Amino acid sequence: MNVCAYCGGSQKLTREHLVPAWYVKRYPKGEADAFIERARKAGSKLDMRIGDVCEQCNNNHLSELDGYAKSIYIASFSSALRAGERLTLSYDFTKLAKWVIKVSYNVARANRSEATILSQYAQLVISDAPLPIGVRLFCEAIGPAVPDELGLPRVAFPREEEGLIEPEGFRVGRLILANHSDFRWCLRRLTLDGFEFRLVLPDRKQRIVDKDLGSFVDELRERKILRNEFTRNGVACIEPPIMDSVTLSLGHERQFPVHYGVEKRDFFRKLI
Ligand SMILES: [Zn+2]
Repeated sequence: MNVCAYCGGSQKLTREHLVPAWYVKRYPKGEADAFIERARKAGSKLDMRIGDVCEQCNNNHLSELDGYAKSIYIASFSSALRAGERLTLSYDFTKLAKWVIKVSYNVARANRSEATILSQYAQLVISDAPLPIGVRLFCEAIGPAVPDELGLPRVAFPREEEGLIEPEGFRVGRLILANHSDFRWCLRRLTLDGFEFRLVLPDRKQRIVDKDLGSFVDELRERKILRNEFTRNGVACIEPPIMDSVTLSLGHERQFPVHYGVEKRDFFRKLI
């Protein structure tokens, strides 16, 4: 019998969007790109769904989280930062982090990719309980790109409009690190237009002591992989973007050349 991936119940199962419906509606002509790691054939469709979530979970807790994500997207994330611009924002840490966990968990199941650690948080996502202290959320801004004198992409300054390419797209996947093999953690990324959320989830089945929780994050901070934390006090400052939209997309295409058909396109083949 099929059971709900969140509550474990066997009530009627429904289809839950991988990319939230409110985001899909923002781009009615399909201008934005959606990329769900490993779902190569269906990977570019914005309306992908997964069918193992019960009506109760889908219509209550999960849709509340989506509602919250929509409101904060409209308030703070719908316009990308330019070079030198910072964003200070307030948010509800629990709701924002649970939403990122929910989307990551749905995508991992849809991909049949590793979801063991994410599944340990499923019950928490549909409850009102706070998240364990080891759960950390960070954000990296992605600026609109403009070509520099050599035609290479850089982050646009405020008011620059010539040749501007905005960061648009919804991408979800693992945060893959070079020289890293600590399996006690799940690292995920969720890119929402000009903002990339980076999530750190400890394996709740392993004994990770407080000291390890801190030192793991400190190491990634030193490597500049994690910056701009959404702390639990509900106020964060996101530093100006270092990465531009075109460089980010090229990096992504290098990582998933088959999905994007990169090898067939001369323009990108040269750059890669
Ligand atoms: Zn359920």
